[in-house]
Amino acid sequence: MINAATKIYGVLGNPIEHSLSPLLHNTLAGAMNIDMAYMAFNVRDNIDDALKGAFALGINGMNVTIPYKKDVLRLVSGIDEKAKKIGAVNTLMRSQNGYNGYNTDIKGLELAIKNNGLSVNEKNVIILGAGGAAKAALYLAVDERAKSITIINRDLKKAEGLKKEIDKIHTKVKAISLDSLKSDLEVLEFNDYFVFQTTNVGMHPFVNDCIIVDEKFYKKCSEGIDLIYTPQNTAFIKNMRAEGKKCINGLDMLIMQGVAAFELWNDVRVSEEIIAYVKDILLKRLSEDIK
Ligand code: NAP
Repeated sequence: MINAATKIYGVLGNPIEHSLSPLLHNTLAGAMNIDMAYMAFNVRDNIDDALKGAFALGINGMNVTIPYKKDVLRLVSGIDEKAKKIGAVNTLMRSQNGYNGYNTDIKGLELAIKNNGLSVNEKNVIILGAGGAAKAALYLAVDERAKSITIINRDLKKAEGLKKEIDKIHTKVKAISLDSLKSDLEVLEFNDYFVFQTTNVGMHPFVNDCIIVDEKFYKKCSEGIDLIYTPQNTAFIKNMRAEGKKCINGLDMLIMQGVAAFELWNDVRVSEEIIAYVKDILLKRLSEDIK
């Protein structure tokens, strides 16, 4: 039962109405008997005031989502190495003078891949997209010592921007426009890519859309992840599976980035059983939302 001692957490973003984070964290708290409550806060414009207000109200920790992951960088009192490197904060933890910033997206992505028996380690990697989620994929690929990284985006400039960011720490990075990939698949040198699908294409309600339809593309991939989780089986995932390639969706990433934040805030370890229980609850919510 919520009372005066209950610790308050939340997620800041806009839009935020469909966020699964309150369900995720409140379910974790209930399962682990932790006295906390987690709310969604729609911050329409002023993130600076929102953060000051949250601190003044004693809010213990927060997640940060679209469009504020970069903005909060200048508002935190401390920042961990990963968040600094990637240039985005998705988790805030209260300290004496303000909030410290963390990024649990990379951890979430790493665990989702590992827990499903996949691996990016020393692989040739394709990243479809060059937005915020692509950045988590990019830094994970670097951490996993990917043999090569090919960033493919509709807007080539954005792909080149990401390439430039990591040119100093990874020597084999290519940026390609989506159009040039579609016109000639030979731009892909290898036949065993681990592919990260990080664009919005195929997300509910546009479930039949797919970033690339040519089956030859899928033949060049060995396994992958589509970061979308609504629907659970995107057209991209179906195309991968049609070629016999293993491909997971983004739900485990969402859960594991949340679990990493929850563990940080509460200094606990969440068991595999509780993670499976939370996943069940989220799957039920997703199937109700799509009805
Ligand atoms: P973002 O920063 O807005 O980036 C969107 C990307 O999608 C850009 O590369 C954009 O290309 C591309 N794109 C959008 N519409 C396109 C179209 N019609 N054709 C070709 N490319 C298109 O968004 P984000 O934060 O990276 O999120 C991207 C996706 O990842 C979303 O579906 C989101 O739900 C998912 N995601 C999942 C998790 C998780 O935990 N599972 C976490 C983060 C994000 P341009 O640059 O050319 O516009």
